[in-house]
Amino acid sequence: MKVDKVKNKIEKLRSEVKKHNDLYYKKSQSEISDFEFDRMLKNLEELEEQYPQFKESASPTDFVGSDISSDSSIITLNTPMYSLDKAFSMEEVENFFSKVKEKETGNMPFTCELKLDGFSVNLYYDNGELIYATTRGDGIVGEDITENIKTIPSIPLKISHKTPIEVRGEIILNIDEFDRINKERESNGEKVFANPRNAAAGSIKLKDPARVKARKLDYKIYSVGLFEESSVDSQYKLLEYLRNLGFKIVEHYYSDNVADLIEQCKIWDKGRDDLNYMVDGLVFKVSHFSIQDKIGHTSKFPKWAVAYKFKAKEAETKLLSVDFQVGRTGAVTPVAKLNPVYLAGTTVSRATLHNANEIKRLGLKEGDYVRLIKSGEIVPKIIGVNLDRRSENAKSIIFPESCPVCSTQLISLDNGSKSYCDNLNCPAQILRRIEHFASRDTVGIRGLGESVIQQLLDNNMIEKIEDIYSIDYEKFASLPHQGKRSAEKLQKAVEVSKTQKLGKLIAGLGIRFVGLNTAKILTDSYSDIDSLMKATSADLFAIDKIGEKTADAVVEFFSNKENILMIKSLKKSGVVFNKIESKMSGKLTGMSFVVTGKIENYTRKELNDLIEDNGGKVSSTVSSKLDYLLAGENAGSKLEKARKFNTIKIISGQDFFDKIR
Ligand SMILES: [Zn+2]
Repeated sequence: MKVDKVKNKIEKLRSEVKKHNDLYYKKSQSEISDFEFDRMLKNLEELEEQYPQFKESASPTDFVGSDISSDSSIITLNTPMYSLDKAFSMEEVENFFSKVKEKETGNMPFTCELKLDGFSVNLYYDNGELIYATTRGDGIVGEDITENIKTIPSIPLKISHKTPIEVRGEIILNIDEFDRINKERESNGEKVFANPRNAAAGSIKLKDPARVKARKLDYKIYSVGLFEESSVDSQYKLLEYLRNLGFKIVEHYYSDNVADLIEQCKIWDKGRDDLNYMVDGLVFKVSHFSIQDKIGHTSKFPKWAVAYKFKAKEAETKLLSVDFQVGRTGAVTPVAKLNPVYLAGTTVSRATLHNANEIKRLGLKEGDYVRLIKSGEIVPKIIGVNLDRRSENAKSIIFPESCPVCSTQLISLDNGSKSYCDNLNCPAQILRRIEHFASRDTVGIRGLGESVIQQLLDNNMIEKIEDIYSIDYEKFASLPHQGKRSAEKLQKAVEVSKTQKLGKLIAGLGIRFVGLNTAKILTDSYSDIDSLMKATSADLFAIDKIGEKTADAVVEFFSNKENILMIKSLKKSGVVFNKIESKMSGKLTGMSFVVTGKIENYTRKELNDLIEDNGGKVSSTVSSKLDYLLAGENAGSKLEKARKFNTIKIISGQDFFDKIR
């Protein structure tokens, strides 16, 4: 590689690693698989080693990712929590064993432990009592999660070991509990967790221990930090010792036969499917502490241990049909409907095929058996066809030439990789546009989801976005599955949306390339929609972070007569397209709130947003300085505490919504 190319590559990798690190540790999200992430990190490490001139002091390879969120209290760990060197193939595992054997000859037993796909924790006990619990944090300081940890019933609060000890392991969520939580979230219209690890990580950081308790978290222990006990001189004995203290211990195997140990990789790659929790690899450790000490550490990880990572899981299933879905911009996307198949923790029945070229690339035919993987154990992806199982006269899958909904001839772009229906009145596009406007990430009108919009369209009660503001609620109440209560709720939600933040309103309009982030950038320069509508391409392009494509798309959108009419009509209905006025009136300015318990179907974040959007302040603790406690169903200790202060006003969800309307 040429040197400047190397430099580019290193910089790109570094920013990618940092991005995914932050997503993973701070937001409990993943866009790529762990396998891919670890590979990326290792790649970066290798390049930095080869080209030390491009190494930066702040490279993410120098420190493990931090899980600490900005609003948390932190605790310094007594001893650092290292991460482990990783192996991505059996050869790399073999290399580990030969390297270790070079340093130490003779009989040397190893432990082979299941590597849990959970969330690392550190439990500190002194005088036999649990004093505090933290996350791994950045390995040096962790986030205080003591109260949440205490909700896990199997974690002992008292142990018979009296000197200070740091016990380390992983918080996990069992698969059946994960399924239960996701089903519940789905029926509440909440976003489902992508995998048990994200659910565990999200749960352990909730601000309300009562909600953590309801998640039924579990854990397993595999090591210690600070620890002194002369009878324990190996990892194997340590695990037994911890088990005897009352901890749940990670499943492990113990042997001095390297071939047997390596064989475990194959055994557990299959065996992990039978477990009720997620395992993403195996950890091999030299067992004797004296030999561990001799082999030593690098600055990042011990040289006497390695983590072998399993590859993504594959499954094979039958393709039932391909649906062609029309999105709000008219783009037609093929989606494979599959015979439901269990794959890495969830049941998969659909997978996107992206575009016509992807169908061609796969050579997909009707009734084919397809091979699926989950990239990152999140999104199922079809990677190939099992030709041995194809029936003789299977027909090819043909991308439609006309819109499957309105029959308009499709327009093909980018060498056929994209197909569009350009009929602005296409019912599918109308549905998606309204759905986009009302969705949580944009204007956020509760109760106006896909099925309700479809019902309103079918009954000719709406035709376009602006019609949302003139729904006949009496008629709505008389529709099947609806009623007076749901009509009232919808009406309230529609009313509230009129003073939504300008950025969210703009994002809801469906301007190409203008999602919520871009919309917010636009509102930094334009405080109302009229000035934005007058902006030229050059004006917009001059804004930092706005590219040419986006600038053109905005201008194009506002030069379309129908769109201008839509804005006019929305304004007439009372929608406030003005940054200052749409700060929702500031009705709660100067007031502080603590939210506790369940308020209708609102998530905590939605309620916090509502408070802040109206100028109020959200607090997490009940104190004499607090103005309001917003208490819903199953309000617990916070309600009790608030009652002790006669200065705090305790209000219901209804009182709250009355305040901001
Ligand atoms: Zn169409």
